Amino acid sequence: MTSLLEELLSCCSASQKIQLPWLIINSLFAIATQILKYLLKFVTHTSSLTFFFLFIVNLLDSRTVMGDLGWIAYPKNGWEEIGEVDENYAPIHTYQVCKVMEQNQNNWLLTSWISNQGASRIFIELKFTLRDCNSLPGGLGTCKETFNMYYFESDDEDGRNIRENQYIKIDTIAADESFTELDLGDRVMKLNTEVRDVGPLTKKGFYLAFQDVGACIALVSVRVYYKKCPSVVRNLARFPDTITGADSSQLLEVSGVCVNHSVTDEAPKMHCSAEGEWLVPIGKCLCKAGYEEKNNTCQAPSPVSSVKKGKITKNSISLSWQEPDRPNGIILEYEIKYFEKDQETSYTIIKSKETMITADGLKPGSAYVFQIRARTAAGYGGFSRRFEFETSPVSVAASSDQSQIPIIVVSVTVGVILLAVVIGFLLSGRRCGYSKAKQDPEEEKMHFHNGHIKLPGVRTYIDPHTYEDPNQAVHEFAKEIEASCITIERVIGAGEFGEVCSGRLKLQGKREFPVAIKTLKVGYTEKQRRDFLGEASIMGQFDHPNIIHLEGVVTKSKPVMIVTEYMENGSLDTFLKKNDGQFTVIQLVGMLRGIASGMKYLSDMGYVHRDLAARNILINSNLVCKVSDFGLSRVLEDDPEAAYTTRGGKIPIRWTAPEAIAFRKFTSASDVWSYGIVMWEVMSYGERPYWEMTNQDVIKAVEEGYRLPSPMDCPAALYQLMLDCWQKDRNSRPKFDEIVSMLDKLIRNPSSLKTLVNASSRVSNLLVEHSPVGSGAYRSVGEWLEAIKMGRYTEIFMENGYSSMDAVAQVTLEDLRRLGVTLVGHQKKIMNSLQEMKVQLVNGMVPL
Ligand code: AMP
Repeated sequence: MTSLLEELLSCCSASQKIQLPWLIINSLFAIATQILKYLLKFVTHTSSLTFFFLFIVNLLDSRTVMGDLGWIAYPKNGWEEIGEVDENYAPIHTYQVCKVMEQNQNNWLLTSWISNQGASRIFIELKFTLRDCNSLPGGLGTCKETFNMYYFESDDEDGRNIRENQYIKIDTIAADESFTELDLGDRVMKLNTEVRDVGPLTKKGFYLAFQDVGACIALVSVRVYYKKCPSVVRNLARFPDTITGADSSQLLEVSGVCVNHSVTDEAPKMHCSAEGEWLVPIGKCLCKAGYEEKNNTCQAPSPVSSVKKGKITKNSISLSWQEPDRPNGIILEYEIKYFEKDQETSYTIIKSKETMITADGLKPGSAYVFQIRARTAAGYGGFSRRFEFETSPVSVAASSDQSQIPIIVVSVTVGVILLAVVIGFLLSGRRCGYSKAKQDPEEEKMHFHNGHIKLPGVRTYIDPHTYEDPNQAVHEFAKEIEASCITIERVIGAGEFGEVCSGRLKLQGKREFPVAIKTLKVGYTEKQRRDFLGEASIMGQFDHPNIIHLEGVVTKSKPVMIVTEYMENGSLDTFLKKNDGQFTVIQLVGMLRGIASGMKYLSDMGYVHRDLAARNILINSNLVCKVSDFGLSRVLEDDPEAAYTTRGGKIPIRWTAPEAIAFRKFTSASDVWSYGIVMWEVMSYGERPYWEMTNQDVIKAVEEGYRLPSPMDCPAALYQLMLDCWQKDRNSRPKFDEIVSMLDKLIRNPSSLKTLVNASSRVSNLLVEHSPVGSGAYRSVGEWLEAIKMGRYTEIFMENGYSSMDAVAQVTLEDLRRLGVTLVGHQKKIMNSLQEMKVQLVNGMVPL
């Protein structure tokens, strides 16, 4: 390359080059060929960086085809393949054409048949160079700077010989950058990349064709690909590789399949976007009893299958067994459960690292049932089937000797007590784990009882107040964690009772994972301790992907702590304010769907939240929203938004239904009202409901039938749902299950979200039957705009006839755009300020 260019450029100065057009044109192919060698290096290098995305599947990449591409060019003197190899002797599949001096060019280059592998939308990426016509000597009238790309669908290779006019045009391709011979001199490589997409495709494959009509082009590479959402495991459900939809705005709903050893909790679903991203995860699977979640699997050892009896005496049975067929990891220990036949409710558990034990202290001549399970780092496997063995009978001599009976009774009793003490000692070792081990028959019974009430439809929320001893409630619903298992890392917030920290929890046999830790500050009163732990007693009763999950409590050492799952993005209101305007409507609806699903669960459990607000929703790094803040003192002492009502209770007025404010009628229907306010907060990215109106004004306006106006750019269907949630008659409000279904429908059919609330009606709604803005606090348009730091627009407003506050009151979003206020942030500021003024003046909002 260097030598050729040098040869060409050294022969002449720039002016000489103009006088030597033919030399340049004749040398063009040769130059291009050399340039391509350079480009190829560049392209090959970048390809490994740029194209190794999992969600892109190549159907053709001309750079990687080693043999003949099999493309056809006609007429024969049109497109030409450059018969070059790169430094590794791999062929360079590059085509060029440069018939800029001849009239009526029509040069076609047809690819071979490309299977679409089931994709209905495919992408074509072209890399090419194009010569700038102006730089060609003599101002060549015939020279073009574009070429055309076509396709033809066919199920097999038969379509190859079709006529030109049967091809469907994809686009005319122009270069962003064309090159001149000066660029050649400077050795500047102007490689263009253009991508076009085609769909929906209905056949099995297609041909591409490139038509040149008189340009000077080198087609360096052609890559054809489709996008897919790659197979993932989310919430213990596996979602298959999914080819994106045919439409560029289509979201495909995909059902997940629970991973091995897990079962459906709520049917898991996700949505595959046209860009190949997974969006809006819904539902989840749970590991089956005996399995634990680890790295998105429930991999636990298979059950012990063969158990053999060893030595049997009248008071003991020795057993041995073999390792499970599929240990699926290193077996850490075995758990042996045994009980006297037909006495299952009272059983004993022994843990052993060996594959044998001796159970002693048994009754003579009695049948015992044994079950064994193994534990690996992934948790416990299932129990083996039941094995039944009998102790030896008491010898006749002994049994006839009545005098021995008290001794036997005493020794059996002592044996049992000793055994219990030993087991207790073994299991109470200061290991990181829940100190409620399963050795206590009462607990296992309790567990069973809990398991029973966990059945859908049967389980209801139990108010911890109903327990005489609140400590009992905590220990019933929350696991005790050893403080030594917790590492506190940093303070992330302030709760009513003390600091909220982030940190890590390492339980025995489990991976360390991040947690949030609420602490009870020192010097607490007994009531504060009770109220603090009350939240854990409530939270511990819930198990749902959209409810904050309780890991456990620390009550046996100080500070007293509540440990929950960690939500990376903190509280939803702050998160939305920080990321104003950053999410797609679908993402926002996904958040709302999660909250509604959590609330459905709570209402099914018979739990009324009473303080549902964006500040009490937490959001994690996957944008999954979870309902939190289950204070026991439901007078909402800890909510800074809560204000005392005339009846004495503290209520977050702006979020609360009128009947709850007026006569404390808190129900799931009043939670639905609050949910409507949360919808409004989400769609307006954390705006304060009713802005700076006073609580008294809010109560009055709502009572008079006014409602919040639609947030900006809000889909009409969502605003309608908000208004439904704010029905005065609480029985007319939708139920949470209806809200979930409605949001699901919208997610499945995103085009239903395209109709936005009409911007002008949004504003004029506020003004009905009320006095004009002109009588407000601002004396002039300039003063108002200055006050909201939008003074730069004063002149534009005045020039366009908005010279009084009365006139300003009529401004709509369209007007703003017309006036040249194009920045969305500025539009929002102005419209929100107008709304605020109007709302304050009319002392009300959108009349229903
Ligand atoms: P709370 O006392 O529950 O209102 O918590 C106070 C603040 O701590 C919240 O507003 C959050 O910013 C933060 N926080 C509470 N719980 C968590 C959690 N599980 N994950 C992350 N941040 C949390």
